[in-house]
Amino acid sequence: MSELLTVSNITKVYESGKRKVVGIQDISFSVKKGEFISVIGPSGCGKSTLLRCIAGFEKTNKGSISLDGEKVKKPGPNRFMVFQGLDQLFPWLTLKENIVFAMKVVEKSQGNLERKAEYYLELVGLEGFRDFYPYQLSGGMKQRASIARALSVRPKLLLMDEPFGSLDAFTRRTIHQMLLKVWQKTGVTIIFVTHDMEEAIDLSDKILIFSKGRLKGFIENHLPRPRERNISAYRSFLLRVSNLLEEETGSLDSEELSAAEATLAF
Ligand code: ADP
Ligand code: MG
Repeated sequence: MSELLTVSNITKVYESGKRKVVGIQDISFSVKKGEFISVIGPSGCGKSTLLRCIAGFEKTNKGSISLDGEKVKKPGPNRFMVFQGLDQLFPWLTLKENIVFAMKVVEKSQGNLERKAEYYLELVGLEGFRDFYPYQLSGGMKQRASIARALSVRPKLLLMDEPFGSLDAFTRRTIHQMLLKVWQKTGVTIIFVTHDMEEAIDLSDKILIFSKGRLKGFIENHLPRPRERNISAYRSFLLRVSNLLEEETGSLDSEELSAAEATLAF
C-alpha cells in the first residue's frame, strides 16, 4: 500500500485578539490508501483542528500536508468531511436530490446521477428512503445519508469528526457495522475522530493518541474483525489504550486547562 496522505510537522495556532492558542503542534504522520485510522484524545486536544487542516478549512502556521503527492492548500472534493451535527443535508431536497446535487457540483461526476445516487443510498441501507426529506429521518438515518452523499463524490479521504457522537449506543453499533461494510466495499481511506475508545477500537486499524495539541503516539490494532467486545483480547487491548491515554493526558481533561498548557508550551 502506498502513502496517500502525508502530514509533515504541522502547527496551527489560533489568534483571538492578543491571545494565542495552540490548536496542534508539530504533528507528523502518514496514512496509506485504504486505511481506517482513528484519532483519539480528550476534548480540546486538537482533533478537530487536525481534521480541519487536512480538509483545507484552516491554514497551518508551519509544516505541510500532501494528498496523493499534491499539497493541500484549500478545501476540495477529494476530501469530504462528515460532522457530528445532524443537519448537514439541504432540508428542501430529498435524500436522492441531496446526493445528485453534490455529484453535480463535482465535475468528474458523469453518467446517470440519479441511478448513482440510488446506489449510494442502498450502500448505507437507505434504499427505501430516497424520496424522503431530511426532517423525516431519525438522527442515525441522517448520518447515513451524509455518508452516502460524501461517498457519492468519490473522495480520496473521508474525514469524520465525531460523526456518531449524538447517537444512542444501539444506533451507533448498527451504524458502525454499516460504515465498516461501506469502507470494505468502496476501499475509501478514513480518518475518524472520536473520544470514545471502544468506538476507535471497533472501527480502526491504527489509533493515533492526541494530548494537548500533540501526537503522543499510535497503536496498531490487530484484533480480528468483526471485533467482539466480550473477548479477553479485546478487553486487554482496551486496557492498553486506556493506560496509554491516561499516561499521556493525565487527569486534566478540562478544555480550558489543556488550552492554557498548550499556550505555555508553544
Ligand atoms: P478537539 O476537537 O480535540 O476537542 P479542537 O481542535 O477543537 O479540539 O481545539 C484544540 C484547541 O484549539 C482548544 O484549546 C480550542 O479551544 C482551540 N481552538 C479550536 N478552534 C479555535 C478557534 N476557532 N479559535 C480559537 N481557538 C480555537
Ligand atoms: Mg472536536
